[in-house]
Amino acid sequence: MYTQIVIVGAGPAGLSLARALSSSGARIILVDTQQLTALSDPSFDGREIALTHQSISDLEQLGVWDRIDAKEVFTLREAQIYDGKSPYALRYGPGEIDGQLGCMVSNCTIRKAAYEAVKDLENVEVLAGAKVVSLEVGKRSVRITLSDGKDISAALLIGADSRFSFVRDQLGIGAEMNRLGKAMLVGRVKIGSWHDDIATEWFDHGQTLALLPLGDGVASAVLTLPESEAATLQKLKAEALGQELQRRYRGRFGTMTPLSPLHSYPLTTTYSKRFVAHRAALIGDAAVGMHPVTAHGFNLGLASVRHLSEEILPILERGGDPANPAALARYERRHRRESRPIYLATNSIVGLYTDDRPPARIARRVSLRLAQLLPARKAVQRMLMKPARERTRLRRSVISSKLRLGR
Ligand SMILES: Cc1cc2nc3c(=O)[nH]c(=O)nc-3n(C[C@H](O)[C@H](O)[C@H](O)COP(=O)(O)OP(=O)(O)OC[C@H]3O[C@@H](n4cnc5c(N)ncnc54)[C@H](O)[C@@H]3O)c2cc1C
Repeated sequence: MYTQIVIVGAGPAGLSLARALSSSGARIILVDTQQLTALSDPSFDGREIALTHQSISDLEQLGVWDRIDAKEVFTLREAQIYDGKSPYALRYGPGEIDGQLGCMVSNCTIRKAAYEAVKDLENVEVLAGAKVVSLEVGKRSVRITLSDGKDISAALLIGADSRFSFVRDQLGIGAEMNRLGKAMLVGRVKIGSWHDDIATEWFDHGQTLALLPLGDGVASAVLTLPESEAATLQKLKAEALGQELQRRYRGRFGTMTPLSPLHSYPLTTTYSKRFVAHRAALIGDAAVGMHPVTAHGFNLGLASVRHLSEEILPILERGGDPANPAALARYERRHRRESRPIYLATNSIVGLYTDDRPPARIARRVSLRLAQLLPARKAVQRMLMKPARERTRLRRSVISSKLRLGR
């Protein structure tokens, strides 16, 4: 089978890229190991995604936002970070737009909407239940082989297959990889007091806790713990879990009643040494696998979609080769420029706030009081507040896609 573009991974990043490039009329195949039912109607996975204004704008341009029910979108007015019992907080936002920092939407809701945005496109095909087991890069095309023995050749291969990207490995691209030995537990809870639409995070001794606002009386509890402790917590029955959460959150939110089981994510951060190779590019988590603490993984995934599609859409529209090396090199430079500071800033925040040795504790206290001057805090704030200045080109391409596809 031949196609112009093959995207490995129909997660939110792969689906968004397929939608962005579809306006060119190019033939695109998405390949994912998950079955069609899991792609079309993903089950709740505990992840509540904090979206920036830029990401909301990108999702609007991609025709994904319209497919999300307004009842599934929750206000995020401000974020506050605390160190242990200290009353001082590092504050982000509220932003200039609507007085909000952004909003919260479940990962499964975003995935479902992104799938719906591509499923009826004539030039996009989704091959579900298909695992890529090998790939071969030639001068004029890349060939991937699926577990059922099928071959697909393409002018351009996209790796959107998670932070543990098989495509990245097969292309011989290395990655900085930090296995943190901790797991993040996430689940919905009913709370006894109002969260004021503020996301709150506490770096406590041996644990990091966060509470993300999900409308009236509901929130997402987020706990980062050593993996063995996380496994023990996951086994608790609902009532015992509620009591344990209340104890760990020191009763700040009154009674806590679990509304879902806790989902566990072992924490590994990754940053690919290269984002492109001959006839290939990496996007989403395959390029940059962020620590979730600053909530930027998917926001950067959408940035990778924006940067790559702006480079190769004009080429596809002219009938050119989408694997144009100069365009891919520009994509790499742009995405590295945007993602590297935020990746390093996030890692420095995690390092500073989870180090319980006395010098780090003193540095934390000082940094909280000088919060407005911290370079790491500024890099994160800049990303959150970044005006959606790059909307115009993407909007233009999606409008032309809608015209062409009559949607
Ligand atoms: C607890 C938690 C909280 C988070 N909170 C936020 C937040 O608030 N804000 C934010 O922006 N981000 C957040 N993130 C990050 C966000 O969830 C990810 O960045 C995003 O889901 C990555 O999307 P992706 O499409 O790149 O990869 P994935 O969602 O990992 O999708 C990859 C796809 O590739 C497929 N695949 C893998 N290997 C193969 C193969 N060999 N062949 C075929 N298919 C394959 C998989 O089945 C999968 O469907 C959070 C993450 C976690 C864990």
